[in-house]
Amino acid sequence: MELKQIVEPLIKWYEQEGRKLPWREGKNPYHIWISEIMLQQTKIEAVKKYYDRFIQELPTIQDLAKVEEDKLLKLWEGLGYYNRARNLKKAAIQIEEKFNGKMPKTYQDLITLAGIGEYTAGAISSIAFNQKVPAVDGNVLRVLSRVTKSKKDVLLLETKKEMTRKIQEILPKQAGTFNEAIMELGETICIPNGEPLCDRCPLVNICLAKKENLVMQIPVRVKKTKRKKEEITVFLLKYKNKIAIQKREQNGLLAGMYEFPNQKEKMTKKKLEEYLKQKKIIGKNIKKVGTHKHIFTHIEWNMTAYEIETQEELKGYLWIQQKELKNKYALPTAFAVFQKYIK
Ligand code: SF4
Repeated sequence: MELKQIVEPLIKWYEQEGRKLPWREGKNPYHIWISEIMLQQTKIEAVKKYYDRFIQELPTIQDLAKVEEDKLLKLWEGLGYYNRARNLKKAAIQIEEKFNGKMPKTYQDLITLAGIGEYTAGAISSIAFNQKVPAVDGNVLRVLSRVTKSKKDVLLLETKKEMTRKIQEILPKQAGTFNEAIMELGETICIPNGEPLCDRCPLVNICLAKKENLVMQIPVRVKKTKRKKEEITVFLLKYKNKIAIQKREQNGLLAGMYEFPNQKEKMTKKKLEEYLKQKKIIGKNIKKVGTHKHIFTHIEWNMTAYEIETQEELKGYLWIQQKELKNKYALPTAFAVFQKYIK
């Protein structure tokens, strides 16, 4: 089987079956960029509403470059991995300063921007500007591995490099359409979990994994690292109709985000009372209100939240009204789940 055989059927299929998505209309590079960054960790259906709101609030690169961080993070609330939002703004400033406010066209220029890696640079330059560059993500790796019955570990960088070389060799003139087509096939037909929908696949007569009944064994993914587990006790400190929040440090996990005060250890109610005493905090009506497990890429948080009424607005925290929490301050999902316990 020659790999270039996949090009024509894929493009034909995509032109007929490709989903109509808001960021694909008009090939606006700014729209494609924002959507690609959102899609890095989130599914298409979930991204749509965030995308529409983001573009409405920040319709141009110039608006993005000027936006205040709190507003930006609020717009990103719910999408997670907040550094993506910060990098968008950094890159918008770079575009203003280095590229006269216009999105650069080439892979080489795009990759110099904050938050834009090989895949995103390839996607923007090929889809928005039809440059002949591959854009290889997990979907593409899966489709290629299956079509060629490759048993190489798709989590290895060298496998990705080899697949990227193979795609580069077969890229047609309509490189952007081809890249979109193969990604779309991976998202909708040659799916990652469960059986792929081979009977609806334009490559069914070419695909070697299908021919040799290997579709459930490919792609091969060899997992290595185990997630580190951490216990977190969350304090929902309340005084009158206000609640305490604080800003996280500017580095590390959820950098610079707002959070409820917390301590990295598991506390029983008794232990918590001792802790408050040590800190000279007078708290009453202390009660455990809920638990939550939050999974990041490398860390798992087992969280327990306590409601504590204080006798004053304790120093060192930002005391805010509940509605401000909804409208003004972006809480990452790990903490936002406890909002429902604040009455
Ligand atoms: S035939 Fe099946 S396994 Fe092969 S590319 Fe199509 S959907 Fe994937």
